[in-house]
Amino acid sequence: MSAQLILKPGKERSLERRHPWVYATAVARVTGKPLSGDTVRVVGHGGEFLAWAAFSPDSAIRARAWSWVEGDVVDAAWIEARVAGALARRAALVSGTNALRLVFGEADGLPGLVVDRYADTLVVQFLAAGVELWRDAIVDALVRLTGCGGVYERSDAAARTREGLAPREGPLRGAAPAAPVPIEELGVRYEVDVAGGHKTGFYLDQRENRARVAAHAAGRRVLNCFCYTGGFTLAALRGGAASTLSIDSSAPALAAARRQQSLNGLDGADCEWREADVFDALKALLAQGERFDLIVLDPPKFAPSVHHVDRAARAYKEINLKALRLLAPGGLLFTFSCSGAIGVDLFQKIVAGAVFDARVDAQMLRRLQAGVDHPMLMTHPEGEYLKGLMLLRT
Ligand code: SAH
Repeated sequence: MSAQLILKPGKERSLERRHPWVYATAVARVTGKPLSGDTVRVVGHGGEFLAWAAFSPDSAIRARAWSWVEGDVVDAAWIEARVAGALARRAALVSGTNALRLVFGEADGLPGLVVDRYADTLVVQFLAAGVELWRDAIVDALVRLTGCGGVYERSDAAARTREGLAPREGPLRGAAPAAPVPIEELGVRYEVDVAGGHKTGFYLDQRENRARVAAHAAGRRVLNCFCYTGGFTLAALRGGAASTLSIDSSAPALAAARRQQSLNGLDGADCEWREADVFDALKALLAQGERFDLIVLDPPKFAPSVHHVDRAARAYKEINLKALRLLAPGGLLFTFSCSGAIGVDLFQKIVAGAVFDARVDAQMLRRLQAGVDHPMLMTHPEGEYLKGLMLLRT
């Protein structure tokens, strides 16, 4: 008999509505002695079956649902079928690149698992107890289904610590890549440092937004703030930008950006990489009377949790206000927040406040989000993190 998680009265509702998380506070008691990652049967207070879930003894999210079907047996074959499903869906959705997210956790029915493909290298993150237990079956399935020889683990995200799991990093199949992995996205070549870069090495989630920036860059003076290794800058140059100024506080990121500029044959472009604090740099650019026709603001996560929302909101407002003042009439602002704690509505309000305080007129042309390879479960709004707006200063 499987171990059981018996919920407190009234706490069935969330699972019944197919939200995949069972919080520790919802659990009345546990029967049997499940270990970390074991599949448990989650039942309501009356004993009725609700879901099969992966047990996570040290996490505030005590279990993550695998399946709402009582007849399902969660074994290696079942896990492999889930992986195969995610891969098959992506193949039909994404083109024009050899780098994409193949598996995105809860949305693909594999809570806590991230798999990114960079050419023939896979980078995986096991960020929850369930997928950690099934790591070998998952890696075997990935290698078999993709034919990729190299699999590198980057389970160093904070989410893993919250699960009570120690960080893990290094090659799982093949050798660790000796050099950055070359990829090509919509005609631009990038080099991805899968071992040392942010996240799994690259901001794959911004692909569609890079394409939008490229589509509107022709002839424009572009300012890219928080440029990291220059993803948006290279897209803008490929799109025919008249000039680019890219700002980041990280010297190694800027060095990688310069290498990619050369790799794309763009050495002759009017392209400046500036090592600076964006808050200071925006002030200085305003004082100098500079003007731009397209500005990208893609900062780091200012609000790592709900406790940081107020301070983060002020920071988002400040950079947006200054960017709006730096925009020439007719200029475009692509502004983002990847803070999960700042919702779509709140972000729009913050930017609206910045428009008002900047005393400019602006139209909202689009809402922006992560690309189609970063899906969201309709029943799991927590999965949404990247949000953005495309504004036109009139
Ligand atoms: N826009 C990037 C990703 C941004 S990641 C892309 O598309 O690839 C956030 C970046 O902000 C990091 O490179 C970090 O070095 C930089 N950063 C963080 N705080 C900063 C600050 N105050 N001023 C300048 N850069 C900053």
